[in-house]
Amino acid sequence: MNILHISAECFPVAKVGGLADVVGALPKYQTLMGHEAKVAMPMHKTNFLFEHQWETVHKSHLFSNGQKFPFTIIKAQNHNLGFELFCVDVNGLLDREKVYGYEDDHFRYLIFQLAVLEWLKSWHHKPEIIHVHDHHAGLIPFLIKHGVDYSPLKNIRTILTIHNAQYQGWMSKDNLMYFPTWDEWKTGLLFWNDQINSLACAVKCADGVTTVSPTYMKQLSFESNGLEDLFRQEAYKCRGIINGIDEEVWDPATDKHLDVHFQKTKIQPGKQQNKLQLCEHFGFRVELPLFVFIGRMVDDKGGDLLPAAINQAFVKHPGKMNVIVLGSGNPNIEKTFERLCDIHPAHYRLSISYNEPLSHKLYASADFLLMPSRVEPCGLNQLYALRYGTIPIVRRTGGLNDTVIDFGDPNGFGICFNQPSVEDILHSINRALELFGRKREVNALRKKMMNINHGWQESAKEYIELYQQ
Ligand code: ADP
Repeated sequence: MNILHISAECFPVAKVGGLADVVGALPKYQTLMGHEAKVAMPMHKTNFLFEHQWETVHKSHLFSNGQKFPFTIIKAQNHNLGFELFCVDVNGLLDREKVYGYEDDHFRYLIFQLAVLEWLKSWHHKPEIIHVHDHHAGLIPFLIKHGVDYSPLKNIRTILTIHNAQYQGWMSKDNLMYFPTWDEWKTGLLFWNDQINSLACAVKCADGVTTVSPTYMKQLSFESNGLEDLFRQEAYKCRGIINGIDEEVWDPATDKHLDVHFQKTKIQPGKQQNKLQLCEHFGFRVELPLFVFIGRMVDDKGGDLLPAAINQAFVKHPGKMNVIVLGSGNPNIEKTFERLCDIHPAHYRLSISYNEPLSHKLYASADFLLMPSRVEPCGLNQLYALRYGTIPIVRRTGGLNDTVIDFGDPNGFGICFNQPSVEDILHSINRALELFGRKREVNALRKKMMNINHGWQESAKEYIELYQQ
């Protein structure tokens, strides 16, 4: 099949979170299966842009509210992504350093989508499927079906994948003046709760809707930031497909960010050496259990609960554990993580940053990964932890519920808890500390985890079946 993915992020071109990992891997596996999968994204000013050569494949312009926007489509050369990558450049709008976080984001992503559609009209062999990811590309299914200018694209089928329904691309109705002409009878499809809602619009208009785990799909009907009724209405075309991981990037036997590699046949010495290096670097005693957190410091990730839980664990088990936290996000949450540096200087380290190499080292060296998420559509951190023999401590929600089984169950390997509360996190840390003392059991769990297959093969196949339907 001929598939075009449209996304704001794609690893390693521009990454903020799991969306990038998925869009950087799924098309690669689809290509390996014999399909033609391409990716279109905005031309963010990241290192990838400057480190690669580019060919200009299309130059044109579009009009929005009477204003002319020239745009250029460039195609990446000399890369080994495993699929064709196209970036959309609209001067002054898309050529910026950050992926999100600008006041005019809603407008930037509207123009991005219009440029992609304008470019698509010029294709001789149009894609059979346009696969849009999250709200940044959520208006495309509507515009293809009901936009007056896009009739040449009408036969293309659209799939929406929701990576996180908390963010929906809201816009006030005034923004309709920037939209290209559409069939006015269909205006209601753009709205939810009296404003333009790109994600809701995509759920209504896409031919198929997926999200990144079966449990999250169920949860969306009763907890989706205002879209609950919509997910109930559209349930007939919605399904959960669990994310895979890119096994080339995330492999402790070859990982380019590790000095010491290890395989699932010989886990213990390799993990220990990685831990030794990391502990020397951070000034920790290697024999103590090492807990890590990697991720966005926001309430959805339990970032407001974790500092208190870590603090109480240090008080309850003085000198018995080490913790490293890597992430950034909400400034207030960052501050509460920072305060722990003064209170527990011997056993706690914090890096408020985005640091891909360090994240790989942490997955490889840690004994336990903390994921006390309130909302976790799929979660990739726990899958990477499993691959690197690190026991995940997770709240049972979304994809965490689908991928981690508590070690108290016959087939289990992780530590699970139910409530997003300091008490439940603390209780899980207590269980982890007890478990850590039972070396044989820990080794057996590591072996079990590393033998679980979370590669993309199965999920990529499910997507193709969906496209074929
Ligand atoms: P999200 O909700 O942020 O998308 P996921 O679990 O789906 O969460 O994916 C998070 C991805 O981002 C993982 O690859 C994780 O390793 C990475 N990540 C998150 N924060 C950081 C950070 N501060 N430094 C490096 N990698 C990070």
